[in-house]
Amino acid sequence: MIYVSSLSDEDYELYEKARNEVSDKHPIKCVCGKLCTGLHELNCKKFKDAVERKYLRLKKLQDKK
Ligand SMILES: [Zn+2]
Repeated sequence: MIYVSSLSDEDYELYEKARNEVSDKHPIKCVCGKLCTGLHELNCKKFKDAVERKYLRLKKLQDKK
């Protein structure tokens, strides 16, 4: 579980990037299969989990540099 409020500015940017990527990949239906609206994504645990996984992957890639 990632607490967005505890992220540094740089990490928050990465988190936003991850969220956009997950959101862009699922423009009509959310990762959970429901129709997505902005509000749904805010409240969907599966969406959040997907964003966190993506964020951790991006973070790993970034740390390798
Ligand atoms: Zn969902």
